[in-house]
Amino acid sequence: DPTGEPEGTLIRASAAYAPDANPSGRINATLLALVRNEELPGMLQAMTDLERTWNHKFNYPWTFFNDVPFTEEFKKKTQAATNAECRYEVIPDEHWDTPSWINEDLYRESVKILEENKIQYADKISYHKMCRWNSGLFYKHPALEHTQFYWRVEPNVHFFCDVDYDVFRYMQDHNKTYGFTINLYDAPASVPTLWPETTKFIAQHPEYLHKNNALDWVTDKARRPSHNMEANGYSTCHFWSNFEIGDMNFWRSQPYEDYFNHLDRAGGFFYERWGDAPVHSIALGLFEDKSKIHWFRDIGYQHIPFFNCPNSPKCKGCVTGRFTDGEAWLNKEDCRPNWFKYVGMG
Ligand code: GDP
Ligand code: MN
Repeated sequence: DPTGEPEGTLIRASAAYAPDANPSGRINATLLALVRNEELPGMLQAMTDLERTWNHKFNYPWTFFNDVPFTEEFKKKTQAATNAECRYEVIPDEHWDTPSWINEDLYRESVKILEENKIQYADKISYHKMCRWNSGLFYKHPALEHTQFYWRVEPNVHFFCDVDYDVFRYMQDHNKTYGFTINLYDAPASVPTLWPETTKFIAQHPEYLHKNNALDWVTDKARRPSHNMEANGYSTCHFWSNFEIGDMNFWRSQPYEDYFNHLDRAGGFFYERWGDAPVHSIALGLFEDKSKIHWFRDIGYQHIPFFNCPNSPKCKGCVTGRFTDGEAWLNKEDCRPNWFKYVGMG
C-alpha cells in the first residue's frame, strides 16, 4: 500500500461516503420508476427534487419502465433533468398481462364487491397489473439482471432534505435489505385473504420464517383507531412502497420466489386488490431479519397525502413531524409506532 495506510481505516471508509468519491466506488444500483408517458410533468418534478437533494452528488442511473414505449419527448425531457444515464425499458407482455389462470367472470364479480367496500382503483385492471408487477416481477426485467440495489421513485413525490451520503453504500455496508420512510395501515377489504393465503404458505414452508422476524408487527391486533379491525390476522401495517430502497437479492431469493408464486396462483392480485406494499411488507416481516430493515428518518419525503419530515436544517419545504396535510383522521393511519414498538428505531 503506497500510502502506508492500513486497509479499511476510518478515513477511507468515510471517504467512500463523500459526495465526490470516485464514481467507480459506486454501488451496483439504479433509481427506478414505473411511469406512464402522460405522467411526464410529475416525473420531472420528482426527479428534480431527488437530483437536487441527493443524486447530483452521486449520479446513479435512472431506469424507467413502462408497459408501452416511452415517447421521444419523455426521453428527451427526463434525460435533460439529470447528468446521470437514463434507460428506458418496455415491460415484456408476459410480465404485464393478466395471467392465464385468472377467470374473467370471477374478476368482474370481485370488482363489484371491492367497489361496495370502496376500494379505490378496484375496476382498473391496469392497477391490478401494476401491483402484481411491483410485487413479483420488476426485478426480473432483463434490464435489471445485473443490478442489485434500487430506489423506487414515483411521479409527483417530493424530497425535502439534503442527503450527503451514498444511501446505496449505506445499505450495502450496513447489510440492509430494505429501507422505508412511511409505514401505514391498509384498507382491510383490499386484502381479506392475503393473510389466510400466507398462513397456508408458511405451513408448507415453516423453514422460510426467519428466526429474527417481525411477525409481531405483521400480526399486531391492537385496536386500530380508524377501521377498528385487521384483515383476518394481518395487522395491515405496511411499508409504503411508493418509496423503497431495496436489495433485489431478497426478492430474487427462493423464499420470496415461492411466496410470490403462491400468491399469484391464489389470484388475489385480481380477485382482491393486493398491493405490492402489503405483499412486500409481509414477506420482509416473515422471511427477513428485522434488523436488516431500515427507517430512513433523514430522507424527507411526501407522496400525497403523507409525509416523512425530519427535524433538521437540511430539510426545506415540509413541516417538521407532520404526517399528513389531509383530513385529520389520516393521522391515525400511521403504523410507525407499531414498528418502533416491535423493532425499534434502527
Ligand atoms: P397510487 O400511488 O396507489 O395512487 O397509484 P399510482 O397511480 O401512483 O401508481 C403507482 C405507480 O405505478 C406510479 O409510478 C404510476 O406511474 C405507475 N403506474 C400505474 N399504472 C400504470 C400503468 O398502467 N402503466 C404504467 N406505465 N405505469 C403505471
Ligand atoms: Mn402514487
